[in-house]
Amino acid sequence: MLPNGISVLERGWLSSNSILMVGRDSAALIDSGYGLHADQTLLLIQSTLQGRPLDVLLNTHLHSDHCGGNAALQNAFPKLLTHIPPGLSLHVQDWDPHALTYSPTGQSCPRFGFDAVLRPGTEIQLGDRLWQIHAAPGHDTHSVILFEPESRVLVSADALWERGFGVVFPELEGDDAFAAVSDTLDLIESLRPVIVIPGHGSAFTCVDQSLAFARQRLAGFVANPIKHLTYGAKVLLKFKLLEAQSIALTDFMAWTAATPYLPMIHASHFSAIEFAPWIEQLIQDLVRSGAASRQGADLRNA
Ligand SMILES: [Zn+2]
Repeated sequence: MLPNGISVLERGWLSSNSILMVGRDSAALIDSGYGLHADQTLLLIQSTLQGRPLDVLLNTHLHSDHCGGNAALQNAFPKLLTHIPPGLSLHVQDWDPHALTYSPTGQSCPRFGFDAVLRPGTEIQLGDRLWQIHAAPGHDTHSVILFEPESRVLVSADALWERGFGVVFPELEGDDAFAAVSDTLDLIESLRPVIVIPGHGSAFTCVDQSLAFARQRLAGFVANPIKHLTYGAKVLLKFKLLEAQSIALTDFMAWTAATPYLPMIHASHFSAIEFAPWIEQLIQDLVRSGAASRQGADLRNA
């Protein structure tokens, strides 16, 4: 289904997809997954490249599950040129894990550097093709998406999945961003992609259906922002479980209290109940939906 030279390394949900584009003269990778999988990411890329170096690395946005393998790749390929979106480049330069939201979300990302900043409205050569860079705020204010007009392939990051889109992080911080999500969906529609490679999940061609589903989901969040905040909090809990796989419930509760985004979300709209019972409710929701299970004193990923 995908054009020659493009392959998608799809892992579990903890790591974003990594998209490898191998051309005559150069090989490029979009997004590098979560730090925990960095060794696996490197091995997969080395085995696909068969001795050729990786020349270009690009991040659609700087969430830990999209750039956690950057450091390992930069280490393995000394001439690698890394391109990042413009918004947070100073924080990458000075390495500020707070401003990059790694510490506030309780996630980790090994320090990496960069060589260039992506400019929306321009193009970049990846493999043998020229890709348009588009700003795609919403899920992340600084995210970009990439479109190749000849094959009409879109790399949509977390702006559009087959079923939905990523948590709208600015909304968790109290900033309005649902309109930006809507504008980004309109932008995607206007590009008329035939294949979408999302940040998570398999590539898909049912683009109209996905856009309709995403708009419906967005309308639900706009009508009931509390639903989105609850979903956002559960995603943070699930991400921790994906990383830990199994954790003592007491340790998990301590982690939630020490992870600033969770008390922040709680204080914004849920302070009618205490923090710990609120987290307990969210855990129960995860267990009920089959995303987690309790085993004695432990909480497990399911
Ligand atoms: Zn993301």
